[in-house]
Amino acid sequence: MQINAFYKNQISFGIYSPLKQYAQHCAYCGEEMIDAKDLGDEADKLLQENFDSEYSKKFFKALPPIEQNVLSELEQIKIKNPSLSSKEVIYQSIINSKNFLNNFDKKSFFKQIEQTKNLSNKGQNFIKEIQNPNTDEDREIILLKKLLRHVKTGEQQNKLKNLIVSQYILKNSSSANGLVSKLLSPLVLSVEHIYPDKKLDSPDNPTNYLYVHSYCNGARGSKNFKDFLEKKPEVIPNIQKSLREIDKNANSLHVYAILKEVCNTLKEQSGGKLDIMI
Ligand SMILES: [Zn+2]
Repeated sequence: MQINAFYKNQISFGIYSPLKQYAQHCAYCGEEMIDAKDLGDEADKLLQENFDSEYSKKFFKALPPIEQNVLSELEQIKIKNPSLSSKEVIYQSIINSKNFLNNFDKKSFFKQIEQTKNLSNKGQNFIKEIQNPNTDEDREIILLKKLLRHVKTGEQQNKLKNLIVSQYILKNSSSANGLVSKLLSPLVLSVEHIYPDKKLDSPDNPTNYLYVHSYCNGARGSKNFKDFLEKKPEVIPNIQKSLREIDKNANSLHVYAILKEVCNTLKEQSGGKLDIMI
């Protein structure tokens, strides 16, 4: 309680936490995280390796579906052309994407989806917005990803995935490093508020934090922590692992005291379901 009171009295500018630097694995999915300042270095390392190397596999598992599709597209090019360097693989992917989009009749494709039986109203609205000339590229990719969930047939899903992958690659193709940084960005460490309600006195309080991928953070959204745990009980051992990792890496009484308070927050917000001993 003392620690909580201490942090509640601090005026907070942005997210501060003395624990952040010690967290290496995501408290939700358990996979490795990237520090925002290391993103460029990690992208460089991945470019020096093959896309099917152990190094790339390290990140592969934790990527969101579309980024995984882009990475497997790069892997496929590498398998077909084993002598290409990773940079050359990316240039080849840009050429492939341009060719794909040149030969792809978007208008008739969307018409075909619209005419499919049982396309939800939401799906129809996404198509309308995609085709609106005022919709920019970023928004279009988001809408295409959303539309994917409403498309029922396998053939349409595959075409839609190819369309998203091609647009994604072309949009981020100003440099090979830029494309790979963009691919890895969902794996950047972010601070997750266990109790998400902004009305709480001070949500910017390290006793209310977990450290997770920005992607995993976005996937939880503002869901109540108790409901989230009920839906995803598999995160429980990862949360435990993350707190132990921070404790071990920091090896300080100050950090240990904050972690004890994090455990209290978890117990409270999970309705007693999550009772972790550090
Ligand atoms: Zn994660």
